[in-house]
Amino acid sequence: MSSVKAAFLDRDGVINIDHAYVHAPEEFQFIDGVFEGCRLLQKAGYLLIIATNQSGIGRGYYSETDFEKLCVWMKKRFADEGVLISDIFFCPHHPEKALGNYLQDCNCRKPKPGMLLAAQKKWDIDMKASLMVGDKQGDMQAALAAQVGRRILVGKDGLACPQPVAECTDVARNLLEAAKLID
Ligand SMILES: [Mg+2]
Ligand SMILES: [Zn+2]
Repeated sequence: MSSVKAAFLDRDGVINIDHAYVHAPEEFQFIDGVFEGCRLLQKAGYLLIIATNQSGIGRGYYSETDFEKLCVWMKKRFADEGVLISDIFFCPHHPEKALGNYLQDCNCRKPKPGMLLAAQKKWDIDMKASLMVGDKQGDMQAALAAQVGRRILVGKDGLACPQPVAECTDVARNLLEAAKLID
C-alpha cells in the first residue's frame, strides 16, 4: 500500500492569474500566497504535482517547447522560494478546436482524470490521502473520477470564495487558504 500523498494543483487561476493562454514569463503573475501555501503542503508531506489543460498548444497559439520553457522558468521561481514541484502533467488537446494530432477527445483533458491517473501510476500515489486544488468544476470532476480524497475549489485568481459544486469537499479563497485547511 502506497504511503505517497500528493497535492494536485491546477495551474491557471490557482498558481498564476488566468490571463488566458499564458505561455511566457512576462505574462506569468503568481497569485498572492502561492509560495507559502505550497511550502505548507510540502511540510505536511504532500508531493506537489501540477495538472493543467493547455489547449493553447493544440490550438496553435504556442508550442510544446514554449510550454516546457515556461515550466523550467516557473519551477526555478518555486525553487527560489523553497518549493519543489515534483512533476507537471499537461493536456495539449481539444476535442473540437485543435489542429492535426491535437484534435482528439482524449482522456487527459480535465474533467477527465487521465493526468491524475498517470501521476498516480508514475509516483505510486495513495489517491484517498491526496488532494486537488482547482478553480473550475472540471478540476473537481477530474479529481473525483480519480478518487482523490480531498477536493478543494478555490476562487479564480484567488479573488473570492467560490460557491461549492457537487464534486468538491471544501472551498477556499485561494491556494494558501486551501493549504491552511489541511493541518
Ligand atoms: Mg484553472
Ligand atoms: Zn489530452
